[in-house]
Amino acid sequence: MREKMIIISAPSGAGKSTLVKYLLKKGLPLEFSVSATSRSPRGEEKDGKEYYFLTADEFRNRIDAGDFVEWEEVYADHYYGTLKSEIERIWRKGNCIIFDVDVKGGVNLKNIFGNKALSLFIMPPSIEELRERLLRRGTDTTDKIEMRINKASEEMKLAGQFDIIIVNDDLNKACSETESAVTGFLKHD
Ligand code: ADP
Ligand code: 5GP
Repeated sequence: MREKMIIISAPSGAGKSTLVKYLLKKGLPLEFSVSATSRSPRGEEKDGKEYYFLTADEFRNRIDAGDFVEWEEVYADHYYGTLKSEIERIWRKGNCIIFDVDVKGGVNLKNIFGNKALSLFIMPPSIEELRERLLRRGTDTTDKIEMRINKASEEMKLAGQFDIIIVNDDLNKACSETESAVTGFLKHD
């Protein structure tokens, strides 16, 4: 397979991780791009699995060293970024990379990789529903939830820059729409 990547972006709480996990269980030749972050591990998260956990200083040093293909300070002092080494690692194995990145990161990756990339924007049914999902998920404080919600309306304005928009209202429908977009892209030479 030629070098390919699937980019999944959305405001926090819209369902990116759920859709990425669904795709990874389908037995497709996809491999998750593990990002680096300076935020602390949440719940059962393990270094090297969900993220490479770095301190803010380590993260800034690696920015200076030119180790990232893209990075964002997604929330104050919380850096997230894709290491060049991660992309090389996955392509070397002949797999298609799947990214779960914030909306600006998704736009940047698509601009860098062009037709090697299929970019999907996961649209929440509404801001209210987004807040409900984040509250139900129970992984963030109410302050952090409000921070994520404030960002969401700005991010939704960038949806038009993605190849495909998937509205995640009914989860089963969103899963099958996502899966058919991805399998179509993988088949294409
Ligand atoms: P993200 O990765 O975009 O932050 P998650 O995948 O963690 O979002 O989803 C946020 C929460 O919403 C999770 O608790 C998830 O189980 C739930 N969720 C995802 N999709 C739906 C949906 N279509 N309807 C209701 N709840 C959903
Ligand atoms: P969380 O803290 O919920 O794991 O992630 C916060 C946000 O950072 C999510 O929108 C997630 O997609 C994004 N993110 C994770 N990794 C990267 C990355 O490598 N680059 C960018 N730009 N955003 C990322």
